[in-house]
Amino acid sequence: MASETHSKTVIDPFGTTVIEDYERLYQEFGIKPFKPLLPEMLNPSAGMRRGVIFGHRDFERVLRAMKNHEEFAVMSGIKPTGEFHLGTLQTAREVIYFQQQGAKAFYCIADIEAYEDNRIPFERSQKYAIGNVADLLALGFDPKKGFIYQQSKETRVKDLAITFGRGVTLATMKAIYGERHMGLYMSALIQAGDILLPQLKDFGGPKPTVVPVGIDQDPHLRLTRDLAFKFRRKHNFIPPSSTYHKLIKALDGSPKMSKRSPMTYFTLEEKPETVSRKIANSFTGGRPTAEEQRRLGANPDICPIYDLYLFHFFERDEDIAKLYGYECKGGHILCGEDKQRLIKLVLDFVKEHQRKRNQYIDKAREILGAE
Ligand code: SF4
Repeated sequence: MASETHSKTVIDPFGTTVIEDYERLYQEFGIKPFKPLLPEMLNPSAGMRRGVIFGHRDFERVLRAMKNHEEFAVMSGIKPTGEFHLGTLQTAREVIYFQQQGAKAFYCIADIEAYEDNRIPFERSQKYAIGNVADLLALGFDPKKGFIYQQSKETRVKDLAITFGRGVTLATMKAIYGERHMGLYMSALIQAGDILLPQLKDFGGPKPTVVPVGIDQDPHLRLTRDLAFKFRRKHNFIPPSSTYHKLIKALDGSPKMSKRSPMTYFTLEEKPETVSRKIANSFTGGRPTAEEQRRLGANPDICPIYDLYLFHFFERDEDIAKLYGYECKGGHILCGEDKQRLIKLVLDFVKEHQRKRNQYIDKAREILGAE
């Protein structure tokens, strides 16, 4: 049972999320489109400019703080169930973007959720966490202007979760998340603690906070915004804001990459030959023959190769526009050529990233207090 289901739209942070039409999220889920805010952003990120970040809740509050040079925070994180993949890369880039725009940055290693949702023992998630933090640092997160922590070790988060337990009934949890075991309901309360941690006195008190996440995480935001309101007298919480990015298509063309199907995604730690093979075998929006593709053009809207360029591997917006219209729809490139060009960009990125990441392993251990 999914947390929110409207025809073919399913949003479930603990299961499968299917979004057939992002427009419907505006009408049926109360999410606002991000595009109208773009002209007000002084320095929008690539994801914002390209529509990868498509929606928000209450982002105007954060935008005002950014414009007025007032204090604000960014908060997001990773579930340490494995190596960084392209979804976690997207979130990390958004956190780093807001940090560079002046936000106090909070990055959570959600090891309690990894235990409750994925049955990953804490000793194992600790190993993944070291790698994940090294990835974050290699991507540009500045630990001097940020706070990286593990849920299981952060008492303030757990204390908030215990407090929040009194503000929510089982019926509400079932309505938001469906019928689940108690551990998942607890981990949802802990996530609410994560999201509101930046507003505790220890971190300077209430402040606008943006949570950049994939749309599958929206139920956590709805719960937390409700709890922020219920506990406003005690903590003076400001309801957290959010931005939502689209989910990058899986390499088999399905709507979301899944750890259960390794051929549908790659991580930043995979061997170059494996990454090349996965991209080379990927589904595309191409035509059955080269002649048809040259004559009729292909379909980037259903193509995971296009998504990889759009989300991560073309730096310049002009290159994206050229690929979408002239090269792909115009039939001026064949899918095989396009895949080879992408493989080179991905391998160059992965090689450079791995080099930097290795330099940050000791720092990551230090931040996590690991042996
Ligand atoms: S030309 Fe490129 S973007 Fe277009 S369908 Fe083929 S692989 Fe996808």
